[in-house]
Amino acid sequence: MKNDQKIIVGSEEWCALPLLGIPAIKARVDSGARTSAIHAFNIKAFKREDAAWVSFEVHPLQNNRRTIVRCEAEVVDKRVVKSSSGIAEKRYVIRTQLQHGDMSWDVELTLTNRDSMGYRMLLGREAMMGRILVDPAAGFLGGEVPEEMLEEQYSNHTRESSGLNIGLLASNPDLPSNVRIMEAGEERGHRMHFYDIKQCYMKLDAENPEVHYRGGRILNKLDAVIPRIRPDLTFYGCALVRQFESIGIYSLNSAEAIGSSRDKLFSLQMLLRNGLSIPTSGFADSPIETSELIDMVNGAPLVVKLLEGPQGRGVVLAETRKAGESLINAFKSLQANLLVQEFIKEADGKDLRLFVVDGKVVTAMQRQAVAGDFRANLNRSVSASTVKITLEEKRLATKAAKVMGLKVAGVDIIRSRKGPLLLEVNSSPRIEDIEEVTGKDVAGAMISAIERQLGWKRRLATPLDAKPRS
Ligand code: ADP
Ligand code: MG
Repeated sequence: MKNDQKIIVGSEEWCALPLLGIPAIKARVDSGARTSAIHAFNIKAFKREDAAWVSFEVHPLQNNRRTIVRCEAEVVDKRVVKSSSGIAEKRYVIRTQLQHGDMSWDVELTLTNRDSMGYRMLLGREAMMGRILVDPAAGFLGGEVPEEMLEEQYSNHTRESSGLNIGLLASNPDLPSNVRIMEAGEERGHRMHFYDIKQCYMKLDAENPEVHYRGGRILNKLDAVIPRIRPDLTFYGCALVRQFESIGIYSLNSAEAIGSSRDKLFSLQMLLRNGLSIPTSGFADSPIETSELIDMVNGAPLVVKLLEGPQGRGVVLAETRKAGESLINAFKSLQANLLVQEFIKEADGKDLRLFVVDGKVVTAMQRQAVAGDFRANLNRSVSASTVKITLEEKRLATKAAKVMGLKVAGVDIIRSRKGPLLLEVNSSPRIEDIEEVTGKDVAGAMISAIERQLGWKRRLATPLDAKPRS
């Protein structure tokens, strides 16, 4: 074997890019990719002595957006590269020195602002050719880099400010839920910024996507955003969140998850497909099927829900079959999309709201309809109370949030004879009423989820901080 000059690496390795000023970066070794890539942002082209150069910034450490290294390099090419998700993207290519263990050689790196794999660098087969063999079961064969060493190496590159910059994307700054989120963030030492969704506009650009705010400010420096999109702004709001995501700014709920949760029928299909229970439901396009639709949900009484209805007001109970038929036909003649659902009588006008953050039920309340109604979500906290939820209900709620891909979700559950059933998963659940009822710091739990995601830890002030280190 002529492998004596080749080094063996695992599927993840620590490398250094000394000419870019990057002392340590964890690379994913991927022989399935031809080119190597580094996750860069703020990529800007410029000329130096008639040559094409780029400047860019790198977050060399995973889950850490506060450590930033600014780099410059000559452009050797511009190339269309297909990412692992299959999306073609035009990227700058630079050439620089790669160091691994005590070996170093020149490699080509493409600059990309896609961050989907979590790794800041990807080592493709071109850079490995003739030098490296991969043992996919191993990792860090070139050595581990301890946390303290990273901190030391990057101490000059870490932003000093102690808090994160978090943007709340919503419509009304005075809405109690929004007020609570702003407070909770500030309490934890972050800088909170309220942005009216309608006043944001964006620049779609392969290298330098941007979000602007009325007045000309650019919002690209945020660490995270919390979207609270009003139902009538779903389309624009999701586009805006997607734009933040493409800049590499973390969104507490992703655009994709918000979009799918806003489509009630699609959500129910997703939940069912993943083995979660909902009340038996029917859906059809033509009024001819009305009678069969009613049979499908075991006749009257039944609930008819307008799919695009405003909260609570598009949900109607038909006590008799005849009432059900006229209701369905009337809605149909208005071209409304509707869902027919078995009526869970035994719920007795109650439902449960479970608040899920980051895979956990933070708290829950029970809501009770006013006498004569069956809709528990119409009137506010007056009728809500704390409630002991079962393990099964907890599991149902966390799984529903997971299936919908929501980090933050208000999951509505109804207790039926057959056990708990899912009614709905809400991507912008109201905060102030459940906090009032349960006394839990729900807004704080949302902020903590961002801190965890970004690997942010509260820095405690120590006397050492007061004087410069010698
Ligand atoms: P929305 O939140 O858009 O008004 P929901 O589907 O959550 O629509 O329904 C509103 C309320 O109506 C629920 O909170 C629940 O109290 C009641 N409800 C909904 N579906 C049923 C059902 N199938 N059986 C009994 N009550 C229901
Ligand atoms: Mg609801």
